[in-house]
Amino acid sequence: MRIGLEVHVTLPTKSKLFCSCSNGTENPNSAICPICMGMPGSKPMLNAEAVRLAKTVSLGLGSRISNPMSFVRKVYFYPDLPKSFQITQLDQPIGVGGKVRLWASGKDIGIRRVQIEEDPARIIRGDGYSLLDFNRSGSPLIEIVTEPDITGEAELKAFVEELLSVLAYSGIPKAEARADLNISISDSRVEVKNITGISNMLAAARYEMARQEAVLRSGGSVAVETRSFDEASMTTESSREKETDEEYGFVYEPDLAEYDTGAIAAAKPIIAGELANSIAMRYGLSERTLRELVLYDGAALRLLELGVSINPGVCVAAIEGLKKIGRMGVPEATFRELMVAVANGVKPSTELVEAIEKGGGKPSKALVDKDRIDAEIIGLINERKELAEQCRSDAKKLNFFIGVVVKRCGADPRYVAARATELINRALGA
Ligand SMILES: [Zn+2]
Repeated sequence: MRIGLEVHVTLPTKSKLFCSCSNGTENPNSAICPICMGMPGSKPMLNAEAVRLAKTVSLGLGSRISNPMSFVRKVYFYPDLPKSFQITQLDQPIGVGGKVRLWASGKDIGIRRVQIEEDPARIIRGDGYSLLDFNRSGSPLIEIVTEPDITGEAELKAFVEELLSVLAYSGIPKAEARADLNISISDSRVEVKNITGISNMLAAARYEMARQEAVLRSGGSVAVETRSFDEASMTTESSREKETDEEYGFVYEPDLAEYDTGAIAAAKPIIAGELANSIAMRYGLSERTLRELVLYDGAALRLLELGVSINPGVCVAAIEGLKKIGRMGVPEATFRELMVAVANGVKPSTELVEAIEKGGGKPSKALVDKDRIDAEIIGLINERKELAEQCRSDAKKLNFFIGVVVKRCGADPRYVAARATELINRALGA
């Protein structure tokens, strides 16, 4: 079994790849100009921000950056591209080679290339008519082509996780991916085209693997063909005869120069999966927990790197708390105070974060809370002396104290249990 992917990702730039029309406009045909409609005589101008993003992604995938980089015209006839060619890359794409490591198994999935290209217009099919929306025409895409190294659904899922993480850390946080899958169980390569979204990609692969296995089991042979994925039935169906690159006409794009990619500053790549792995090993934390926290979230990784060496468990608990209340972007000083509060048994909450922020440099409510917990416990011991006495022989009786104080203070039950035991012993004499 061999699976290879071609993943198309829209780059979230302000303007389109070769013109100044805005990228990602909703109202159909409202962000168009002669360049992105491909009118004769219009000249493309390359968007530097798109190149910067593509270069950052390529570095994150371990690709070598072509310098110079050039473009070609991929000639084909279809209504979504009235100029009859798509501007893309062939011999000198932005990224060449590379790999994505699957951290659970340590296996590397090879990257063949990363190329920059323009999206064609969107075709909206109706009953007996077709509509064209040129807003998408000229949107910047990167196409990431893998080697056929993926050997099953679990690896496909793991690969997609790592890829989305690289994209998120490259400035493409909510990547909208469209993919073509090449799947071969026997010698016949089947391509499944135009799958939108990650869950559909997995569903298409699952269906196609089962279909090819069934064909082989019944003694048949799998036809080399292109199929399309139908979202309604979650199945693939034969679409058209196989096209190969040789069947397209590629010609050099004379309207765009060769570009010096060294002149484009790209961000330093961050491989969050790798960092989660090494931090987990070093501090004895759960790799799975760390991955869930930081894989797509640079703010969480920043806090983890800030606090993990101070107190690994408290740091993770504080980040988890911030994630729950959607406050991952807190300043460093707030996070440090929050860690102190969590270490003292206070549960992270919106009110606590706000109190810390309001407190400025003064002792925060987080620290005051520790005193409040003590005060509540001592109050309860005085009110219920008999029950407190019983706690010393029957630990279950402690639940009353824990329940009341957790409810009143929003504190961590484990902390309250430990503290209540201590204070009861102190009040009643050890
Ligand atoms: Zn335009």
